[in-house]
Amino acid sequence: MKFQPTASHFINGEYVEDTAGEQIDVIYPATGEVIAKLHSATPAIIDQALNAAQAAQAEWAAMSGTERGRVLRRAADIMRDRNRELSILETHDTGKPLQETLVADATSGADALEYFGGLAASLTGEHIPLGGGDFVYTIREALGVCVGIGAWNYPTQIACWKGAPALTCGNTMVFKPSETTPLSALKVAEILIEAGAPKGVYNVVQGYGNVGASLITDDRVAKVSLTGSVPTGRKVYAAAADGMKHVTMELGGKSPMIVFDDADMENAVSGAILGNFYSSGQVCSNGTRVFVQKGIKEAFLNRLSERLATAKIGDPLDEDVNFGPMVSENQMNIALGYIEKGKAEGARLVFGGARIEGDGFYMQPTVFADVTDDMTIAREEIFGPVMSVLDFDTEDEVLARANDTEFGLAAGVFTNDLTRGHRIVAGFEAGTCYINTYNLAPVEAPFGGSKMSGVGRENSKLAINHFSEMKTVYVSMNDVEAPY
Ligand code: NDP
Repeated sequence: MKFQPTASHFINGEYVEDTAGEQIDVIYPATGEVIAKLHSATPAIIDQALNAAQAAQAEWAAMSGTERGRVLRRAADIMRDRNRELSILETHDTGKPLQETLVADATSGADALEYFGGLAASLTGEHIPLGGGDFVYTIREALGVCVGIGAWNYPTQIACWKGAPALTCGNTMVFKPSETTPLSALKVAEILIEAGAPKGVYNVVQGYGNVGASLITDDRVAKVSLTGSVPTGRKVYAAAADGMKHVTMELGGKSPMIVFDDADMENAVSGAILGNFYSSGQVCSNGTRVFVQKGIKEAFLNRLSERLATAKIGDPLDEDVNFGPMVSENQMNIALGYIEKGKAEGARLVFGGARIEGDGFYMQPTVFADVTDDMTIAREEIFGPVMSVLDFDTEDEVLARANDTEFGLAAGVFTNDLTRGHRIVAGFEAGTCYINTYNLAPVEAPFGGSKMSGVGRENSKLAINHFSEMKTVYVSMNDVEAPY
């Protein structure tokens, strides 16, 4: 098998196998063929990984920030040098077109390693004068062993978005990829070792949800960072709370995108395409509720349909292809099920709506119009290429409807009225907002959700606060005054 790794897990700087673990078949979504066979981590493997991470942590944290940063920046360079090879692997892991993976996966992982590597040397505490010569200083300390648990849509990126800030702060990591896409994170672990990370600093164990559950309840673990769905987030957050562990939760969404009648139509259509069909719609921040002001609704739908008709659906390894299969048969069936619900509840199908027959898990990009707020397709996260277009009349009305959801990951507005754009984002109940663009996630900017969509932020300097804590030291330069 072409993509069979040396072994299933990467622990203490080397590949490790335990065939007693449940078998995981890795399936290439474009053809349905099995491209690798792995094993889920047994309790012995989990123990080995946590021990390795724990043993490596003190030495790693004792290195200077400059040294740690250099390792991460070297890893970033290696990832960029191997971008094509890593992108081909990511395409086999996920089915995403190579046209996408070449620019969005190893490259964004490398950005995170470079950015956080660059910050490492500048992580400090502060000096706080108290008067009379007394003062406080703070020491920024690592948390310890961090567990990262990933979703299947961006396996390389998630492995780096969690690993880079964790390692920068002097933590070590045990990362569990989704069992649907287990291959890419192993390469991240290999590259970090090659870049000079001490053994045990970044470990990967494979497995289903039960492996994640064992990791987060272990006493050796100080922090859990999850990318996944809201139901999983609830369970993981509750389990972590029991041990009073730090958490970052990057969860799902049902984000609104509002298009006013003064918007640039071509840009709004582009935003709706990027925000619904990139990665075949399997992006957490997607703007899947597209509110279009009534006067331009039909023009918007016509232009959208014209442009969707030019999408190149096919072999993801063909660099001209820009729309690939769904990650798995299961995910395809979930999305197709929502299409049936949309039809049954009276939404108007204006584009797509069907599976594309073959061995791969392909379906058409799909657009429903005349969607109402109470329809299932407007309320639940689909995580597939299914766009709901809803009509609206006024600004106040659309903002209230946009916010009427338990989720709060992202939100976008297209308008050429400058003040309205800012007014709308001020009213959005969402962690990540866009004006006249959609779905950007550069490492320099905080990314994450409010409401049920998450806790904490990834990327940017804010991530440092989620992977370190402050020790406060009071220093007296005077005699101690006691009352008796
Ligand atoms: P899941 O929530 O099903 O799984 C996420 C990860 O958690 C997987 O590795 C899963 O393992 C693991 N897991 C499942 N149950 C438990 C448990 N009880 N304890 C510990 N770990 C567990 O999500 P998907 O993989 O299906 O990914 C899609 C979801 O991820 C969507 O809701 C999407 O919105 C969200 N997402 C959020 C992003 C963000 O940044 N906000 C970015 C990308 C995706 P296993 O797969 O083996 O079950």
